[in-house]
Amino acid sequence: MPAKLLKGAEVAKEIREELKAEVRQLQSKHSVVPGLVTILVGENPASQSYVRAKQKTAHELGFYSVQDNQPADLDEEALLGLIDKYNRDPKIDGILVQLPLPKHVNENRVLLSIDPGKDVDAFHPVNVGKLMIGEPDYLPCTPAGIQELLVRSGTEISGAEVVVVGRSNIVGKPIAVMLMQKSRGANATVTVCHTRTRDVKYHTRRADILIAAAGVTEYVKGDMIKPGAVVIDVGVNEVGKTPDGKRILKGDVAFDEAVEIASAITPVPGGVGPMTITMLMKNTVRACKVHNKIKD
Ligand code: NAP
Repeated sequence: MPAKLLKGAEVAKEIREELKAEVRQLQSKHSVVPGLVTILVGENPASQSYVRAKQKTAHELGFYSVQDNQPADLDEEALLGLIDKYNRDPKIDGILVQLPLPKHVNENRVLLSIDPGKDVDAFHPVNVGKLMIGEPDYLPCTPAGIQELLVRSGTEISGAEVVVVGRSNIVGKPIAVMLMQKSRGANATVTVCHTRTRDVKYHTRRADILIAAAGVTEYVKGDMIKPGAVVIDVGVNEVGKTPDGKRILKGDVAFDEAVEIASAITPVPGGVGPMTITMLMKNTVRACKVHNKIKD
């Protein structure tokens, strides 16, 4: 039987309805609305499309949202000045700087300059550290989306063998940390593979939950998957364009093979991607509550 599709797009819609209701309540009961600024430096088309999607969702949820587009040659000091302005702006609860930044800008310095309380991407070392000790204020969006999708689909995480392919700071490392925590939706035994792993297939074939975040088109083949495993495909790889210019996307998993072997799998697109944006909105609502001292 082909695998069940874990449709992140549908789960994300459900969570957005919950968030919409929360935003309405914040407005009617407390006279506040969550505020999100997205800062885009340059004209990278993929970044432009990500920022547009984030702004559109923020708008739909009733946020106060600002899209701040800056030229590619904006110097680092000017960008730091801009972030400082939003750090001090009481209408802004969340600051998102779209990555990657142009090469002349020191990305780490920029991320460090964001007030950790407004760091809704959860990339600031303070938030990374809090995540590591199991006391996060904000969860990084893509890993949070993956965890939420697993929990809401009823996947047993506690005690499961989880294998993550990829060890980046934005996906691989944080999802590994989150799923190994002693907490709800976690308690898994986690293995992380990377380019120096001697035999990736040996590990992936043991996984009850396999998370592919390598950034390599269709890297995980059918014979790398344990029959009945839950497969989360984080990859977003552009493999071409449709005649009308739309991006054709493929994941890090060979879907046609995997769907015959796994018990559940996320599609690309429509799997992890929509969950990521939704978690950003969730973090912004949380930031708004914290800034206004509103209890859950
Ligand atoms: P990244 O920074 O390029 O990291 C890729 C990781 O995969 C690295 O740790 C690398 O190992 C490992 N890797 C690469 N090739 C491998 C191989 N052949 N065998 C074993 N490990 C291998 O990528 P990322 O930012 O984590 O993103 C991963 C994918 O997820 C990309 O396709 C990206 O577009 C997508 N993504 C999607 C979302 C979403 O919302 N859906 C969000 C973020 C990213 P080394 O460390 O040894 O180099």
